[in-house]
Amino acid sequence: MTTTATHIDHYIDGRLDDRAAQDRSEVYNPATGQVTGLVALATATDVEAAVRAAAEAFETWSLTPPHIRARILFRFRDLVEREADRLAAIITSEHGKALDDAKGEIIRGLEVVEFACGIPQQLKGEFSENVARAVDAVSLRQPLGVVAGISPFNFPAMVPMWMFPVALACGNTFVMKPSEKDPTLSVELAKLLTEAGLPKGVFNVVHGDKTAVDALLAHDDIEAVSFVGSTPIAEYVHQTATANGKRVQALGGAKNHMVVMPDADLDQAVAALMGAAYGSAGERCMAISVVLPVGEDTANALREHIVAALGDLKIGPGTEDEVQMGPLVTKAHRDKVAGYLDVGTEEGAELVVDGRQTALPGHEGGYFLGGSLFDHVTPDMRIYREEIFGPVLSMVRAQSFTEALKLVNDHEFGNGTAIFTADGHTARTYLAKVKAGMVGVNVPIPVPMAFHSFGGWKRSLFGDHHIHGPEGVRFYTRYKTATTRWPNDSQVRADFAMPTHS
Ligand code: NAD
Repeated sequence: MTTTATHIDHYIDGRLDDRAAQDRSEVYNPATGQVTGLVALATATDVEAAVRAAAEAFETWSLTPPHIRARILFRFRDLVEREADRLAAIITSEHGKALDDAKGEIIRGLEVVEFACGIPQQLKGEFSENVARAVDAVSLRQPLGVVAGISPFNFPAMVPMWMFPVALACGNTFVMKPSEKDPTLSVELAKLLTEAGLPKGVFNVVHGDKTAVDALLAHDDIEAVSFVGSTPIAEYVHQTATANGKRVQALGGAKNHMVVMPDADLDQAVAALMGAAYGSAGERCMAISVVLPVGEDTANALREHIVAALGDLKIGPGTEDEVQMGPLVTKAHRDKVAGYLDVGTEEGAELVVDGRQTALPGHEGGYFLGGSLFDHVTPDMRIYREEIFGPVLSMVRAQSFTEALKLVNDHEFGNGTAIFTADGHTARTYLAKVKAGMVGVNVPIPVPMAFHSFGGWKRSLFGDHHIHGPEGVRFYTRYKTATTRWPNDSQVRADFAMPTHS
């Protein structure tokens, strides 16, 4: 452990929490392997302080007119844009991804803030005049109360911004629990929210691991939980929090397939595939980790192109110009991903390109791993069934469109998928029949824009609501319908039949 590591603290009630943290965990720069930070690990007492601050702030914030809440988010948007370079550098230093990729996730997060700035329009209720004589009906969307967000390491800016801008705009107050692997961004966003004029206690950050998460899931004053992370933890969070009476959206892991039809433009498909499989070192929930060429000729041509492109892949610290792929997030994760290269070989897949052979002189301390390609992968193999979450692409050779579609639909995960084809009918059939939440047609990473909603099917999502966009507004609000009567006569009559408004 180095002595220069900075302390990363909770942000509670509008300021950094200055109580002495009992436990801390190390945060690394994945490009060097050095410890750069020591993040506080929240106890149940820390979580209690954050929830109490949020509960107190809710009384006023929930009654603040939506357009006033939106004005604060407008200011926050401008501040994040002003600070984007500094924030991207923080992401790269803790996560490892290339700087322009880090900047890209900030922009995608800001798009959700921009959506949330239009919240007065989203929260407009419904009104029906004269549902009976002198009787009107009105429907409202009201905030839930204190809500919690729990996020993964791979998008330390974007995933929290999938959650809190919409939640706050709807009038809720928030407790964020970011990943302990790259926790600084959430604190920086909290400071910018305060600078934008957000009242204290409306947005709080607690750091930590399972202890912090369990305290949130058990807390009586938390009304809803948004979770993004791996499938086993998503399922656990969903089961635990729903058993405790909370509303939950829990987004889990993925194994995204890209089908390449014989009529696809191969150059375009390969260019798209390289970015989607190896960008951000494959640590994206929408990364393509399985490619399904249809027909042997397509497979052979695709393989040749990928091998050539892998030779040109620029790997190095994310701070260096032109770098396309940085290190993996931790040594443990790098070793786990590298371990799958042995697993696949033992299972009988052909390891066409072995990323372990990529040498980066001068960067031996970093958690680097070159891009790898497996061919002749079959559905029974662990490397096909399990999420590797690294720069490892598996090629499964399909003999027909029907076989490719069945493979995608039979897989446990159903986050995103893509098809590359020149034929409209094939694309349309794929879109209609594929069992996945987000589908790309000649688009490799079909991440929906902020004014649509993001989420998978099958074991890629637990709960009924996708995240941000209209689904986000529904998730963070409760529907209430009132029937009102203002008679101007003096008729008083007890009615024992079901009211029919006739
Ligand atoms: P993770 O599941 O290990 O951690 C996610 C969060 O859960 C973190 O805040 C972590 O502190 C907490 N956590 C970890 N173990 C826990 C436990 N036992 N009990 C309670 N809480 C626990 O995920 P990760 O490694 O940080 O992120 C990568 C995963 O996230 C991948 O599986 C990826 O597919 C998934 N992901 C999914 C989406 C999506 O939209 N579906 C988006 C991004 C990432």
